[in-house]
Amino acid sequence: MSARAQRYLAEIGITVYERRRGHDAAASVAGGALVAAAARATAGSPAAGEAENEVWERLAAEVRACTRCGLHKTRTQTVFGVGRRDAELFVIGEAPGADEDRQGEPFVGRAGQLLNAMLRAIGLPRSEVYIANILKCRPPGNRDPQPEEASACTPYLSRQIALVRPRAILAVGRIAAQWLLQSDAPIGRLRGRVFHYGESGTPLIVTYHPAYLLRSPLAKATAWTDLCMVKDLLQRRA
Ligand code: SF4
Repeated sequence: MSARAQRYLAEIGITVYERRRGHDAAASVAGGALVAAAARATAGSPAAGEAENEVWERLAAEVRACTRCGLHKTRTQTVFGVGRRDAELFVIGEAPGADEDRQGEPFVGRAGQLLNAMLRAIGLPRSEVYIANILKCRPPGNRDPQPEEASACTPYLSRQIALVRPRAILAVGRIAAQWLLQSDAPIGRLRGRVFHYGESGTPLIVTYHPAYLLRSPLAKATAWTDLCMVKDLLQRRA
């Protein structure tokens, strides 16, 4: 591990480091609807870039005006997503919290800072990945998303994934992992493996939510092995 990675690990409070090996057993998962449409047709040309920008803007405007579920009544604003539109890694969380609802950006506040530090530790600063939640509006009181809310909102996420076409997805936290994989298995059984998500079969890795890691620092070492798995996967497929 590089000195820089070690520095970042120290920063996020990880003192135990154990790199897992032999963890690429792939598991194919049938669940998790992914819309394959809207993929870039002629990537690279200026016209294609403009067309793609337009698709993004249209999608963002659609989300801003969305009233598909009851959460539109209590949101301060929608939280669309942020990051590189051609990112190799797509990070998916559950739903905006109070800070996100206020600022309009996913994973801000202390949990967001920890996520940023963990991503930096594998050489992927926040600006290099794309980050979004399953729900674009905050559930009141930070309650868990209801299935009908997640069903109503997932098509937006699917379109974002189809546009970004990441090489890997990191599902952050139990709720996001269980919804994307259509599983009720505990997160401890979902992490540590590589799933294949949707029709594109994008590799998907699960890790703990940074808010949980702030409450349970001992789990940071385990989360680090998940991040290493992401890094290995991206490097292997480079
Ligand atoms: Fe629309 Fe999603 Fe917000 Fe519900 S959570 S109102 S589906 S954007």
